[in-house]
This record gives sequence, C-alpha cells and structure tokens, in this order.
Amino acid sequence: MANEQLSNSTIFPLGQKVDPNYFIGDAFLQMVFTDPTPLNAPIGNVTFAPGARNNWHTHKVGQVLLVTGGEGWYQEEGKPAQLIKTGDVVNIQPNVKHWHGATKDSWFVHLAITPGQTDWLEAVDDEAYSKL
Ligand code: MN
Repeated sequence: MANEQLSNSTIFPLGQKVDPNYFIGDAFLQMVFTDPTPLNAPIGNVTFAPGARNNWHTHKVGQVLLVTGGEGWYQEEGKPAQLIKTGDVVNIQPNVKHWHGATKDSWFVHLAITPGQTDWLEAVDDEAYSKL
C-alpha cells in the first residue's frame, strides 16, 4: 500500500501526536482499549511517519506489538535491528531495553498491548538509525 494511502486508512484512529520528549519525528497515539477489568492491559494504536521512532525504553511487565501497517524496525539493546512488517507480532520481555519505529521510507502502524509501566530512556542515535 502506498504511504499516502496507508497514512489515511489505518484500521483504528490516528489519534493525537505523541509526547515529543520520548519520540523523534511525527508519531501519533490513539488508545483503543483502556478497561481495567478483567484484563488490565491497555491497547494503543501507534502510527509513525517515515523516519519516526520512539526512544530506547523498557516495560516492567513486557509488551506485545501487533503490526497492522507498513514497515518498521524493532531493536533490543546489543542485537541487530529487525525489520518488521504488517502481520508481524513482537513479544517483548519485561525490562528488556528496546525501541520501535518506522523505516526511513515507510509509514508504520502497530497496536501495542502494554499492561505495566513504561520507563523512557535516551533517544535512538541518528547516525545509527540512518545506517539501518
Ligand atoms: Mn516498547
């Protein structure tokens, strides 16, 4: 799907621009599920413009990403970045330092299931990102 089409046709709403303290580039968040019971597992729809990504971070209880559009990167500290695409599912273990975001040329959309606290860390280095 062309980037322009994708940015206008995500399954869930685009939502609002995310907190720029924790992201580089244009990214948007729409919480799609926040009921606290019976599962205390909020689900957010996150849309990244090409080149946008979040800072390094950890999740106290882990996180699951369900990729619903485009192409992006997922990287754990000390490991190579993995290209992830529509239909991919990423299971992130508790307290593993990582980041996720779009490739340079593609929009990227995922649902994020995040039952616990997120702790934000430093930005992903521009030079390292530019070499992906
Ligand atoms: Mn994460």
